[in-house]
Amino acid sequence: MNMKIGVLAIQGDFAEHVVMLKRLSVDAIEVRLPEHLKGLDGLIIPGGESTTIGKLVVDFNLMEPLRTFGQRHAIWGTCAGAIFLSKDISRDQPLLGLMDIKVARNAFGRQVDSFEADLDIPELKQVTGSQEPFHAIFIRAPIIESVQADAKVLSILPDQRIVAAQQGHFLATSFHPELTNDLRFHEYFLSLAD
Ligand code: GLN
Repeated sequence: MNMKIGVLAIQGDFAEHVVMLKRLSVDAIEVRLPEHLKGLDGLIIPGGESTTIGKLVVDFNLMEPLRTFGQRHAIWGTCAGAIFLSKDISRDQPLLGLMDIKVARNAFGRQVDSFEADLDIPELKQVTGSQEPFHAIFIRAPIIESVQADAKVLSILPDQRIVAAQQGHFLATSFHPELTNDLRFHEYFLSLAD
């Protein structure tokens, strides 16, 4: 049977994630209501604006259903989604608070609001069998300042700043694999949701 992966579809670039999942022959479900979580194998929280995503999640009564879903299922946050997934961002805004990472929003300053970098991600190579670096796109990106508990670092920039982390079935990336043509990060997430 096909995997069924949800994409939180209340703000941000959820449509791009849906396209990537379909290319991997996965059933992609747009999640806007608690009942849309039923039967899903995992959930992606897209990039966008984390304050808006948080506010709408509260307004749509999705906060507790998402936390409950995360107890047993894989969740991947890209950019704003990574912020929303984290436990600590040193400021007050609604967070899912599922992942033991400390994140700083808009950490790259104005001149370099957006940039691209080739990342070396050993876990990605292992799961996909491809040795190519991953071309990562950063847009007003957060940085993962630190990982706690059993969360681990998946990828760093040349200056050592953390841009991808994993804790069990939770995945956080500062960058946007859904804006590339490269399906490997989505494939990697599917391996966590399986
Ligand atoms: N700057 C946004 C935030 O703080 C994240 C940007 C993005 O998702 N591309 O939520």
